[in-house]
Amino acid sequence: MTHVHAPRLRRPGRTRAVGSIRVVVTSSPPPAAVAVPLRSRLAVALGRLVAGASRRVRLGTGSVIGGRVALRVDPRLLEHLTADRDVVLVSATNGKTTTTRLLTAALSTDRAVVSNWLGANMTPGIVAALGEAEGSERAAALEVDERWLGRVLTASGARTVVLSNLSRDQLDRTQEVRDLAAQWRSTLEAHRSTTVVANADDPLVAWAASVADEVVWVAAGPGWTGDATGCPACGGRIDIDEDDWHCTACELRRPSPSVTVDDEAILFDGERVTVDLELPGRINRVNAAFALAAARTMGVDPAMAAPALMAVREVAGRYRVTDLDGCRIRLLLAKNPAGWDEALELLADSTAPMVISINARIADGHDPSWLWDVEFERLAGRFVVATGERRFDLAVRLRYAGVDHVVGDGLDDALAIVRDRPGHDGARPVDIASNYTAFQDHLERVGGVR
Ligand SMILES: [Zn+2]
Repeated sequence: MTHVHAPRLRRPGRTRAVGSIRVVVTSSPPPAAVAVPLRSRLAVALGRLVAGASRRVRLGTGSVIGGRVALRVDPRLLEHLTADRDVVLVSATNGKTTTTRLLTAALSTDRAVVSNWLGANMTPGIVAALGEAEGSERAAALEVDERWLGRVLTASGARTVVLSNLSRDQLDRTQEVRDLAAQWRSTLEAHRSTTVVANADDPLVAWAASVADEVVWVAAGPGWTGDATGCPACGGRIDIDEDDWHCTACELRRPSPSVTVDDEAILFDGERVTVDLELPGRINRVNAAFALAAARTMGVDPAMAAPALMAVREVAGRYRVTDLDGCRIRLLLAKNPAGWDEALELLADSTAPMVISINARIADGHDPSWLWDVEFERLAGRFVVATGERRFDLAVRLRYAGVDHVVGDGLDDALAIVRDRPGHDGARPVDIASNYTAFQDHLERVGGVR
């Protein structure tokens, strides 16, 4: 589960083109391998052995079990593997995988980077990814599960932390969101010198991040605020205006952002950087803003890094456009109400038939009643095939939303229904929006992560 960008060899004194800018490459010594204690090297070797064995008996990628074994041998492995590295962490409920991928691309423009952007984002997965690194990568861009941020920050001593949003992942986790904001805040209080790149428009994130000495505030825009209407500081009511918010009972209010996003560009202290992403939608420009803002704190010029972000076409299978059974499809992941809010924005520009696939396994949350918090009314005018294990729950929700729909027994059936519709435009991909395990199933069908 590792993605390593090998350092690019460049000749000193030569120029190279980055977009329309020419850059003079200066001479620099080859990077020395990151120093790692013997015990840690043994731990990594054993972890890789176990991961390999696990892969051979087809128990997934094996990275998490390998990481667990390695941590048994060296409980301080994460500390040791990050000791010589410039570390940036990315955490959020939604978008952390994409942001980490874009951040890795930005940093890779002038240094070698190791990342776990395929999504194993707790300590075992992270040490597994770091253990796969070649050793020359002086930078690490790591996605971190929201609940593991404190532990990973303490062990890694990360210089920069990106916190983009907090919302409940599953219906049974509402209280957890507030607890998480409190955990983030006390973590950052204990690491005040860490620079935080934080969402000024998410009151939970803003409250948590405001204890850091240096915060780069990003105006991500009013997102899904269903979990943030109570003030995290005092329990009072938060008034949310168009693009401003404040607590009616205490001092908490929207911090003034230095990074903003408009339709064509990202602005850093007023300086415009055009970012024309392959990844669709406003939400990905916001993810790019977090990525470039974080890269900037680590010495990378956003204008220089922007072309590398534009080259990212998919993230761990998300947004992939491909063919399945003679049907052009586009894969979208939307795993919770906040994620759906973003997906519906992407989907609003089309009236073509689409497929929605919902499961309710452990990783999805067993209770699919969160479907009632999703504004499926916005799909009115589109024809939807409901599929996945909870297709009937979804169908009930779509009926109440006034969305024209039928139920399909599986993905093949769903695609056949769409394909056979009169007027089906074979050139335009059929959007398949799925929650977590349904997405993984569909991704497997089209060849998995690549
Ligand atoms: Zn308050």
